Amino acid sequence: MQTRRHLPAIGTLVTALGDLPRPLVVSEARALVESVRSGTASAPADWAEAVRARVNTRLAPVLRPVINATGVVLHTNLGRAPLGDRAQRRLHAVASGWCNLELHLETGERGERLTGVEQRLRSLVGAEAALAVNNNAAAVLLVLTALAAGREVIVSRGELVEIGGSFRVPEVIAAGGARLVEVGTTNRTRVRDFAGAIGTQTGAILRVHPSNFRVSGFTESPDRAALRALATAANVPLIEDLGSGALAAGLGEPTVADALATTDLVCFSGDKLLGGPQAGLVVGRADLVQRARKHPLYRALRLDRLVLAALEGTLIDYEAGAEPPAVAMLRLDAASLRPRAEALASRLQELGWAATALATIGRAGGGSLPELDLPGWGVALTVEGTDAFLTRLRVGTPAVLARAADGQVLLDLRTVPAGEENALLAALAAARA
Ligand SMILES: *Cc1c(COP(=O)(O)O)cnc(C)c1O
Repeated sequence: MQTRRHLPAIGTLVTALGDLPRPLVVSEARALVESVRSGTASAPADWAEAVRARVNTRLAPVLRPVINATGVVLHTNLGRAPLGDRAQRRLHAVASGWCNLELHLETGERGERLTGVEQRLRSLVGAEAALAVNNNAAAVLLVLTALAAGREVIVSRGELVEIGGSFRVPEVIAAGGARLVEVGTTNRTRVRDFAGAIGTQTGAILRVHPSNFRVSGFTESPDRAALRALATAANVPLIEDLGSGALAAGLGEPTVADALATTDLVCFSGDKLLGGPQAGLVVGRADLVQRARKHPLYRALRLDRLVLAALEGTLIDYEAGAEPPAVAMLRLDAASLRPRAEALASRLQELGWAATALATIGRAGGGSLPELDLPGWGVALTVEGTDAFLTRLRVGTPAVLARAADGQVLLDLRTVPAGEENALLAALAAARA
């Protein structure tokens, strides 16, 4: 226990640390003095430096960049899709000052914040109209609320799923003020099941794309065109929650344009297979999109200029024939990753590491393509105390997220851009020291 006379005066520390924000110095100095007084901490050799370290810790941002060496591309815990150069430039361009968010520069009249994103989305997917909100969960909630509140929403029992993070289809329908009508069975649902459930109370038919799970074996789901014909004849909107929402073909998922061909409205995420910022996109029939946009909930879920700028930049990339980084990473094949893995392994060996290049299996992540293996290449490191080493990597600067496999540290290069390799090497060196 420290006696009072060994403890420094707060005022002395404030004077010594005049370059730091005074209120933080005062509160951190008091906290440190108090823990030394009560015996929960021992007295530091240099009080001013100890307080400085505490203040700097307080000021350090919690949210910071991570090198993703997991091979999981749309890693939900790591923010899903990394933004491409153009999206970053757009974001930066509107972040620091004002922009024409709701101003039509040609006329000087009030404009619409969604114009750029809406026009580009419409032409990219061939839709009559488009809308963007905070995320896909919000998009589905908004659409169901605007089109079916107080009425019934018909869903196949095979699609009453939980997407994750407490997004459960029955609960979203209830939150939207609609009543769920379940049809069919878990494994088999037919068009006639829907036909039998449609009535005067029907507000919408909802299809949920099985993004993050598969039902296999003895299964049947309604023919898309026949279900569309049924909905059209009954004048009931057919809504699809597509989840991952690829704009590009060849990713192993139906594209938004494909889905739109047999649906009135499609809802999907901006930061899954599209590869942009977090957003929820709605495309389809103009009258239905308009009802969603006019609903008061839209105002609560709308996008801010930062996300809009990043989203527009991502969509311009598609129009210009470029693909966002996440899409490019999903397409990387093992043959193209192998030379990079071998080169990195030999650099590491030269630096004294027990490193070997090896074949890996990556994932799409973000609840997309759950069963799809992404064969790639990476580097395995043999280190003393694998788990402790992985922790040191995580808490380092930059933070690195890697996996443990067979007692080794596995670095999958699918998700490490070539330009990040030097930073990765530095982080590994720091974690070894
Ligand atoms: C991911 C997903 C959602 C939620 O989308 P967010 O953009 O994360 O809100 C909803 N439905 C399906 C089918 C999904 O795959």
